[in-house]
Amino acid sequence: MKRRTFCASAFSMLATASMPWSRALATPGSIPALGPDGQHVMLTSADLADLRGRFKGTLLLRGQDGYDAARRIWNGAFDRKPALIALCAGAKDVATAVEFARAHDLLVAVRGGGHSLSGQSVCEGGLMIDLSRMKGVQVDVARKRARVLPGTLLGQFDRESQAHGLATTAGTVSHTGVAGLTLGGGFGRIGRKYGLACDNLIGAEVVTADGRRITASTTENEDLLWGLRGGGGNFGVVTTFEYQLHDVNPMMHGGPLVFPLVKARELLRAYAEISSEASDDLYIDAMIVPTPDGQRALALDVCHIGPPAAVERDFAQLRKIGTPVQDGLRAAKYVDLQCSADANYPAGRKYYIKSGFVQTLDARTTDAVIDYLESAPMPSGVMGFVHHGGAISRVKPTATAFWHRDASHSVMVIGFWDDPAATAENARWVRNGWRAVEPLTDGFYVNEIAADDDQRRVRATYGDNYKRLVSLKKKFDPTNLFRMNANITPA
Ligand SMILES: Cc1cc2nc3c(=O)[nH]c(=O)nc-3n(C[C@H](O)[C@H](O)[C@H](O)COP(=O)(O)OP(=O)(O)OC[C@H]3O[C@@H](n4cnc5c(N)ncnc54)[C@H](O)[C@@H]3O)c2cc1C
Repeated sequence: MKRRTFCASAFSMLATASMPWSRALATPGSIPALGPDGQHVMLTSADLADLRGRFKGTLLLRGQDGYDAARRIWNGAFDRKPALIALCAGAKDVATAVEFARAHDLLVAVRGGGHSLSGQSVCEGGLMIDLSRMKGVQVDVARKRARVLPGTLLGQFDRESQAHGLATTAGTVSHTGVAGLTLGGGFGRIGRKYGLACDNLIGAEVVTADGRRITASTTENEDLLWGLRGGGGNFGVVTTFEYQLHDVNPMMHGGPLVFPLVKARELLRAYAEISSEASDDLYIDAMIVPTPDGQRALALDVCHIGPPAAVERDFAQLRKIGTPVQDGLRAAKYVDLQCSADANYPAGRKYYIKSGFVQTLDARTTDAVIDYLESAPMPSGVMGFVHHGGAISRVKPTATAFWHRDASHSVMVIGFWDDPAATAENARWVRNGWRAVEPLTDGFYVNEIAADDDQRRVRATYGDNYKRLVSLKKKFDPTNLFRMNANITPA
């Protein structure tokens, strides 16, 4: 295998203004690529032929059919063009792609469900290891376990588990991927009862940075399993996830409950009080959203897995916090609730999100949100709160890589828009909103990392677990091959 790597600085001496570098050095059939530090890499036709010979899935280069569709991810704000997309057919392909990336010093992005908010699953000029064809859920009903392939989306996982009256915590939008969601934590409608998705991860098969395929479980590479439970994609590419499932009745209660945003401060304080005192059976997200008539509303997303008497009591209390304009609380299938917010988050729009944890949702925080919305009205922006606590908080912070167990809620500022000309205005609105609430937060959810978040913020959010994560990173990925994530640097 021939390898030609050129330092950007050395190369700049060779390049001429009239001859782009890719053409200057290319041999027929070779392609230019980029390494992790922006260095130029030339992949020869022999390198590519060698890879093709060992790869079962599909390799896509710029300009080929399917390349543009494959490089697109959920967040339309990111328009990156990898040199090569490896659409893997299985774990062996993943190992082949990882070895190739390492041998050629390529920047690597790993794509599961493609919902990275900060665009980390696609890279400019590097190798995109795309797992989206590796879909599948195998339920072991007797042992209440599921083995799930890394390209699987949450909807499929929920449907196949619920076919047997089983489930585990998954996120609230069914087109999100199980892989990224689980590795960073995984909050969801039944998380207050059953913990984070990563708390229910009991095993994984992983391709490490040196191309080895290993198992992480409570008996093998236990340290790696610890790191995969909240440490994100830092330690390797997971090719199979094994989950603990729970008996979850497919019929439960929930839906949307929407109030006009009048007496906004009182409304939010009432939400804060009810959600803070809720039983583990009750989950309530609250988003302040724009309405078609140019006003704002408080939209609650409710899920209750408790007995009917508790449902009746809790829903009556919720309905009383205002006069609902929409009351969608009802008996509902879990799989339907799990899809109920899907249409609010279409793929391809441009999104910019900032978020942080609060230990207590107090009036200072809810008032800060209202103050900001009143001072800076923005037609499309959303602010709100995601409900945590319950079983999530009863796990020791050091038991898994996920540190912020004491968070009662996340506070979120979300900007979304379609017109590229509106980018600056929307980004400013999110940044200023975040400036207003960030001082009231403590740590953040790594799956909601923004492209402009720095290393200091990542380090802080892992608290006392950070040191252990660095040791693990040194052990499993000493050269930081997997860096497109909330990165734990090995140094
Ligand atoms: C619409 C929407 C709704 C969301 N709702 C929730 C929610 O309810 N609860 C919640 O907790 N989070 C939620 N999130 C955040 C979500 O957890 C992250 O965006 C997550 O990264 C998505 O995973 P993915 O596989 O789809 O993403 P991808 O973009 O494919 O992956 C994200 C990152 O995960 C890593 N990764 C992916 N696959 C692998 C793998 N197999 N092995 C190793 N690393 C891998 C890589 O670092 C990659 O950059 C939501 C996000 C969106 C866009």
